[in-house]
Amino acid sequence: MYSHTKKVGSIGRYGPRVGRKVRMAMRKIEDKTREANKCKSCGKPKIRRESAGIWKCRACGVTFTGGAHLPVTERR
Ligand SMILES: [Zn+2]
Repeated sequence: MYSHTKKVGSIGRYGPRVGRKVRMAMRKIEDKTREANKCKSCGKPKIRRESAGIWKCRACGVTFTGGAHLPVTERR
């Protein structure tokens, strides 16, 4: 299927708005959000983002809190 956002991916919804650098940074994070994340409880890569900071495993059903865009946040 042809996609008009082939080149820019998830941030295609912003069109020409917002600077390129900023859009690329957002894309990097959004791509990670949709990546298969591993479940802490069963180890399967079935974690889906329910809403900001809430993650659910589609294999074992556990719901847990995490980062807004990533299930695990890095400590610096
Ligand atoms: Zn699980």
